[in-house]
Amino acid sequence: MAIEQVDLAQLFDSNIYLVSGDRTVLIDSGIGFQWEDINASVRKMLNGRKLDILILTHRHYDHVGGANAIIKEFGPSEVYTGKGDAEPLRKGDRASTLGERFGGALEPMDVKELGEGDIIDIGGHRLRAIATPGHTIGSICLFDEVTGALFSGDTVFVGGIGRCDLPTGNADQLIDSLKKLNTLKINGFYPGHGPAVPKGGNVHITNGLRMMGVRI
Ligand SMILES: [Zn+2]
Repeated sequence: MAIEQVDLAQLFDSNIYLVSGDRTVLIDSGIGFQWEDINASVRKMLNGRKLDILILTHRHYDHVGGANAIIKEFGPSEVYTGKGDAEPLRKGDRASTLGERFGGALEPMDVKELGEGDIIDIGGHRLRAIATPGHTIGSICLFDEVTGALFSGDTVFVGGIGRCDLPTGNADQLIDSLKKLNTLKINGFYPGHGPAVPKGGNVHITNGLRMMGVRI
């Protein structure tokens, strides 16, 4: 049972986390421009185990650009993203995923959908999907019911919140999503960019709400 993070060489990459129990889950893929580095890092972390599941927290290219290479290389049997962000990935839509802005190709990928409350139980970790629209309409966070870890994607960071001005973003929805996250008892906090912290995660949610002008 473990949560590890890929060493990143490229500024554009999202954070990439490997969650290991009886099965393994990779959360986000990075942008994939320096694929060899990510490939080597994921392979090292897997340490001979198979990659069973890939979960993409949302459609943005810095989180999904490397997904097709990971799928091809490691062959996870299941690939998931949030309901509202699945279709652009299936279509290889470079506009709303920001592939055009980042200057990368996006081949269509076969993704399943995770809805509110869906559980990915890998033995030792039980990841519950929480629908958190605001940064994108289909953004999800993953809450580990066993350890209290929250994987927050680009919804909220240490010292920051996700942008709401990109395609399908919505500030009111982001506030509601942060309020929803704040009902959880969060231990480790693992955002899509910047530092992760091993405990006391709720403070980053309340800080995010304050940044959105919510009095709490
Ligand atoms: Zn994003």
